[in-house]
Amino acid sequence: MAGIILKKRSTPHGVKIPESKPTGNKPIETLPFPKKAIVPLHQNLGVPCEPLVKKGDSVKTGEKIGDSESYVSAPIHSPISGEVTGFTKLIGPTTGRLTDAIIITADGRNTWEEPEAAKDIAALSRDEIIALVREAGIVGLGGATFPSHIKLSPPEGKKIDTLILNGCECEPFITSDHRIMLEYGEKILLGLGLSKKVFKPDRIYIAIEDNKQDAIDHMEELVMEMGLDRNIRIVPLKSKYPMGGEKILIKVITGREVPSGGLPLDVGAVVQSISTVKAMYDAIFDGKPLIERVVTVTGLVERPGNLCVRFGTPLREVIDYCGGIKKNVNEILLGGPMMGTSCFDLDFPVTKGVNCILAKESTPVKEENCIRCGRCLDACSMDLIPTNFVKYVKNHDYAACKKASIADCIECGACAYSCPAHIPIVEYIKIAKGELANKKRIKK
Ligand code: SF4
Ligand code: SF4
Repeated sequence: MAGIILKKRSTPHGVKIPESKPTGNKPIETLPFPKKAIVPLHQNLGVPCEPLVKKGDSVKTGEKIGDSESYVSAPIHSPISGEVTGFTKLIGPTTGRLTDAIIITADGRNTWEEPEAAKDIAALSRDEIIALVREAGIVGLGGATFPSHIKLSPPEGKKIDTLILNGCECEPFITSDHRIMLEYGEKILLGLGLSKKVFKPDRIYIAIEDNKQDAIDHMEELVMEMGLDRNIRIVPLKSKYPMGGEKILIKVITGREVPSGGLPLDVGAVVQSISTVKAMYDAIFDGKPLIERVVTVTGLVERPGNLCVRFGTPLREVIDYCGGIKKNVNEILLGGPMMGTSCFDLDFPVTKGVNCILAKESTPVKEENCIRCGRCLDACSMDLIPTNFVKYVKNHDYAACKKASIADCIECGACAYSCPAHIPIVEYIKIAKGELANKKRIKK
């Protein structure tokens, strides 16, 4: 089988975080459907959807219940069958914005909207694949929630020669993509075949960190079994945070540097996550829109695991299924410990952007003065000077932040993790980004 596994690669930057993925060996379980689903109309980066249903309507599982005419949007589908019993407003746990949400009370039957007749997948054109991906409401499930049909449609004249499937899952605790690779590897490779048809890349890489050797072995076996070894190479990567960042992966694998303020497509590359490509398989091979995802429920819960959860399911139900949280928990994060966002209301629902629910005990630490040790510089994979951002924000000098390329910061938190003075560097960066965004809005 030699040949399709490339030499292990690494990056000089980033941080080594002690291994903490206790759910890596827990097979995916399916959470019972919620009795009541709360489905936000804004679950993607971009424009929210308008509702397509009203109170009293009956809906089927997979029926489209929200959409927008804007290009930067993705439709929303009903995660259960039942009746629309109302609307509410909530702050999107991952978007941080106030959004309308549709309340659907289950009829307990899980009656599916009839999927379209099986298509001749081999005959689908590039444009048909992209249209089906949009119609299925697929967004980047690695955390970005950027509508996938846009990523699949690079502007005229931009040739994509390199397609990278991102199986790094470098953030501690999260194991959903790891399990999907082990349990649905064949579907991933068929989904990847759809992306290949769209981009016609010269090279396809599957990037997996070396703390998931079983996934590396399994994907290698499948690539060989499915006769894909002419096109696909597997790249083992040293487990380091944030190895899975798009721009970092591209640099490590291809040696190309995405320019400041640029996009991967500027260097002929596209990165897709494992979960996204699996969702493309579900939509096109099985006719299933995006109504659920695998979520790692971990940290201080009684029975941690990887659960397939319908969107709209309140966090409380997910946590209860896992036996509840332990006594000392004082924080619930949506996402991992490095990039997750705190959630203060367990009635919030699981949405497209939630790949992990982490229950933890946070101990307050006192921010001290910068000792100019330079550790944050070494940790930053984007070649930024994090300590300067802190200084500029303290002086309210947001123009200096802009000049220092703050927009290139991926908010990975590696700098703050390394900081012996406990300076919450990412919080400062977020303040600056918010101020700069406000200024831009006012100018318009
Ligand atoms: S400055 Fe941004 S990109 Fe660099 S380590 Fe800090 S959070 Fe990550
Ligand atoms: S790691 Fe912390 S203390 Fe060291 S230079 Fe950066 S901000 Fe200052």
